[in-house]
Amino acid sequence: MRPFAYVKPIDVAAAVHAVATEPAAKFIGGGTNLVDLMREGIERPDTVVDVSGLPLDEVAELPGGGLRIGALVRNSVLAADPRIRTRYPVLSQAILAGASPQLRNMATVGGNLLQRTRCPYFYDQASACNKREPGGGCDALGGFNRSHAILGVSESCIATHPSDMCVALAALDAVVEVRSVRGTRRIPLADFHLLPGDSPEIETVLAADELVTAVELPPAPARSRYRKVRDRASYAFALVSVAAALEVRDGTVTAVRLALGGVAAKPWRAREAERILLGGPASEEEFLLAADAELAPATVRPGNAFKVKLARATIAATLRELSTGEDAA
Ligand code: SF4
Repeated sequence: MRPFAYVKPIDVAAAVHAVATEPAAKFIGGGTNLVDLMREGIERPDTVVDVSGLPLDEVAELPGGGLRIGALVRNSVLAADPRIRTRYPVLSQAILAGASPQLRNMATVGGNLLQRTRCPYFYDQASACNKREPGGGCDALGGFNRSHAILGVSESCIATHPSDMCVALAALDAVVEVRSVRGTRRIPLADFHLLPGDSPEIETVLAADELVTAVELPPAPARSRYRKVRDRASYAFALVSVAAALEVRDGTVTAVRLALGGVAAKPWRAREAERILLGGPASEEEFLLAADAELAPATVRPGNAFKVKLARATIAATLRELSTGEDAA
């Protein structure tokens, strides 16, 4: 590992000031991804700014009925919070579906937003990877791409975003609050992560000197659910996941929010499926029709073509559970 300077600021103002004067600095919270990336030589910060002691570790009620989650709230603490478990089950379920208990105890909400892809070629310095070395090529395109993306891909990169939590946040219309020496700005979660295009190394709209300080949730939907399909029951990234919130009255869908994980470089908000579902019958046929429309633009490769059928079935199953109340059983 390269030598680096270590700074531990006492407040948010000092933290953002520390990176403003040091362009090659990185914030570290729980360190569950950044330390791995530094060990592998993929991240090479000159300065590490340790934000773990900042007072950003509370979950607080918002006046309109939502919640404000500090960026340093640990994933395990958030998943266990009774307000999250009862009002936003999709979020609690998503967090508990990710990583191991030990990692969830260390990982922070802010860090979860910023974790980088688990594409194996990204971590292998002997492989070509445009995300690690822009312009270097992409060995995943013709290689082992079972876990890779099918939506929003480019010829530069087909990596997926690894977070479960972010898929739930996308379905919940969460907003990310960030701070720099220029002030505070708020970014809808759905706009926070970027598709690869020609520059897969740029993964979010966050500037290098901006610190994630909180995530805000609007008032909770009536009913929500997270469903994850993976190769083994624990400690595995999603092949496909679905975060959904659904409201049905007299057999008609009156509100729906749907996001997909494991299929794109960002949590994939399924707007086309939502458009078809809203106002229509809450039926299996309609759920499948909406899934087909969302997945129609998929670009598949031999290794990951199965994801289209898997995503279709998982979308329909999740919506069926919510519409029949099976999720509460
Ligand atoms: Fe790198 Fe993306 Fe290709 Fe993986 S898919 S090797 S992260 S460029």
